[in-house]
Amino acid sequence: MRTDTGRIIHLADYRPTDFVLERVDLTFELDPTETKVEARLIFHRREGADPNAPLVLDGDELKMTGLLFDQIELAPERYTETPDSLTIRDLPASVPFEITITTLINPEANTQLMGLYRSNGIYCTQCEAEGFRRITFFPDRPDVLAVYTVNIIADKAANPLLLSNGNFLGGAGYGEGKHFAAWFDPHPKPSYLFALVAGDLGVVEDTFVTMSEREVALKIYVEHGKEARAAYAMDALKRSMKWDQEVFGREYDLDIFMIVAVSDFNMGAMENKGLNIFNDKYVLADPETATDQDYANIEAIIAHEYFHNWTGNRITCRDWFQLCLKEGLTVYRDHEFSADQRSRAVKRIAEVRHLRSEQFPEDSGPLAHPVRPTKYREINNFYTTTVYEKGSEVTRMIATILGRDGFKKGMDLYFERHDGDAATVEDFVKCFEDASGRDLTQFSLWYHQAGTPQITVSSSYDASAKTFSLSLEQMVPATPGQTAKEPMHIPLKFTLIGENGAEAQPSAVSGGEVTGDVLHLTERSQTFVFAGIGARPVVSLNRGFSAPVNLHFSQTTDDLAHIARHDSDLFARWQAITDLALPNLTAAAKAAAGGKPVECDASLCDALLAIASDDSLEPAFRAQALALPSESDIARELGANNDPDAIHQGRQAILSAIATAGASTFRSLYDGLAASTPFSPDAAGAGRRALRNAALSFLALSDNSPAGAAEAYAKADNMTDLSQALTVLAHRFPDATETHAALSSFESRFAANALVLDKWFSIQATIPGEGALDRVMRLMQNPHFTASNPNRVRALIGTFAFANPTGFNRPDGKAYHFFAEEILAIDKRNPQLAARLLTALRSWRLLEPVRADQAREALMTIERAPSLSSDVADIVERMLKG
Ligand SMILES: [Zn+2]
Repeated sequence: MRTDTGRIIHLADYRPTDFVLERVDLTFELDPTETKVEARLIFHRREGADPNAPLVLDGDELKMTGLLFDQIELAPERYTETPDSLTIRDLPASVPFEITITTLINPEANTQLMGLYRSNGIYCTQCEAEGFRRITFFPDRPDVLAVYTVNIIADKAANPLLLSNGNFLGGAGYGEGKHFAAWFDPHPKPSYLFALVAGDLGVVEDTFVTMSEREVALKIYVEHGKEARAAYAMDALKRSMKWDQEVFGREYDLDIFMIVAVSDFNMGAMENKGLNIFNDKYVLADPETATDQDYANIEAIIAHEYFHNWTGNRITCRDWFQLCLKEGLTVYRDHEFSADQRSRAVKRIAEVRHLRSEQFPEDSGPLAHPVRPTKYREINNFYTTTVYEKGSEVTRMIATILGRDGFKKGMDLYFERHDGDAATVEDFVKCFEDASGRDLTQFSLWYHQAGTPQITVSSSYDASAKTFSLSLEQMVPATPGQTAKEPMHIPLKFTLIGENGAEAQPSAVSGGEVTGDVLHLTERSQTFVFAGIGARPVVSLNRGFSAPVNLHFSQTTDDLAHIARHDSDLFARWQAITDLALPNLTAAAKAAAGGKPVECDASLCDALLAIASDDSLEPAFRAQALALPSESDIARELGANNDPDAIHQGRQAILSAIATAGASTFRSLYDGLAASTPFSPDAAGAGRRALRNAALSFLALSDNSPAGAAEAYAKADNMTDLSQALTVLAHRFPDATETHAALSSFESRFAANALVLDKWFSIQATIPGEGALDRVMRLMQNPHFTASNPNRVRALIGTFAFANPTGFNRPDGKAYHFFAEEILAIDKRNPQLAARLLTALRSWRLLEPVRADQAREALMTIERAPSLSSDVADIVERMLKG
């Protein structure tokens, strides 16, 4: 494990390497505890580089057993070896030379799951961001692109399968029960895209014919016996390949595309060239074991990794500061893909919910950083929602500003100009400027300024002049390291809705740039005046969430109800419902904190129930409307001095009021949506299940009895319904006999299915209230709990910390201290996992003082612990300082 060195890497210090790597030949002799890696690397000195500069290669916990220069052993005075670097001196000024390095590594002992590791009998790699240096000494940075040949030698019986990137060259026996396979990847790539898999796995095969009529072999490898559960992933892959051709004109470029699903994996999935490696959670699905959300996630992540073949692999990042160049852009691409495959509006609502619950807190807390950061201490900690999700939003805004055609021209130019490059954010933006002629200098601040912009809005109508005025004022809050901010270019989609629900068409607009339905806010404060408006309109602003901002706009309940009823943009209708609900929920939290009765506004109930029973709206949208803002949404709205118990109590009281007022609506929804057709994981089927389960949840409240959910549990014929019924039972009636019976039947029925058991752990980890910590500690003693499996740790400890506000934030701080101990234990095995989990405390400063003190104490316990990994040290330090 690399312990903290405290070294900070700055973007401003970037410079190209002194040596160009021409080609890489790797030979692996696989062994569980002593794998021999021979790396033959051909370099030449870069033109113009210092003729005396040494070659410095990165390493991490490496043991070198051989070093040759042009096939001759290198004299010890010509090199210096440490576990994390190898420096070679006196190298030729102009001619190419070959360095051959032999290292011994122990895949079995690699519990941090970076580099080459072995779990459940499968050898597998994870090299992004800096895992390749755990395999051999190497210029391990994304701007070093080379062509790789890989030879793998291993015991044949245990490892019938030997895979690496690119195309298969050939294989044969190797004596003593061994065999070998050779792979060649013709596309120059950085080391983080290297992959190797060996072991014994089952396979699902298919083919895809590309737009230029090339046949590509598709293979998805899974554990034996799980092949049938990979069918949906294969279907999603083929749809992704087709979509990328049709929408972005991108064709696949090798003869074979492989996906391997493994159960011990730190990330969701990894886009290694031609050989994606997936957390099996994002591959395996069937109706009995996967929820609709699982199906949607599989579709999105299969697409995401596939899309990286162009945005990430063919065009990669110059340095890790440019991570959003591949991630933000590729998230945007997978969002668009899912929107085309499903309901665009419902998809957008889900994206915005996620952005607000995960990225907004990051952007307003101690871990806030720009989409394109300028310094880091541990790059593993920058795989954040800011880089991914806000990065995607920034790409979406470029599309909004330039329009569909302008965006497409810019993307085409990017692919044409930078194919084969390691590019920067500036290169990317320049393509859109060159293609459209539009200056994006001010817009680029989105990459550089952290913090969620706040926009204060007011409006007025002048009946005699027939003008409607909209005044906007923007402010970007201070974030760590950035106090003063410049005004941003914020594209806000809008419409003016007349009294009858029709859109009002202004005869002219002054005060700023308006293109089509987009209003461009570019100054600190700006007033747009719309002329020729016959009657006072209701303005619907930031439709489709065209900009990732917080709007402060005191619209009346009547105006919000008008938008909720009439806006042709479904996202805006959902947002209006949210804006109606939030003041009720924050008032309820305040009332609960003061021991006062909670009241629910009738207009909220009316608007919600009108949408719930409106059969002209798709069920998935109605389910989204019924899912009121979460406890963390309310906490964010309250801003500071948060009491999670009061927020929970207030929200429950509002839900109860809606349940009582809508009991008959929910009853007829529940009965009317009963499953009649055979199960289908498609969006329409998923929408019906979502609405029916929303109704079930309200009915449990109005009935105040577990009977309905117990019956739903007994009758469920798919995992969505089963897990929802179990959630209602466990969360609303944790002590009921029905709940205990359902929990234990679920555990025994799915004892052999790790991914389903993760759900069982998560459902119990999120049961609200003071019993939560004891329950989590008890579950850690369950024989199914395994601390070495990242999915299981995330399912229990991660879900408890991230998604159980009352249980985790108990006022006595015991859960924080338990969490601190767990983080320290996990850090010893898997620093990346520990650091990610630790971010659950990122909003600790917004808690009321008693809890905030306890949280600080727990963080300080972590900070004081000896031999922290650089991953955890970096997060804890920023959280205490920022
Ligand atoms: Zn990605």
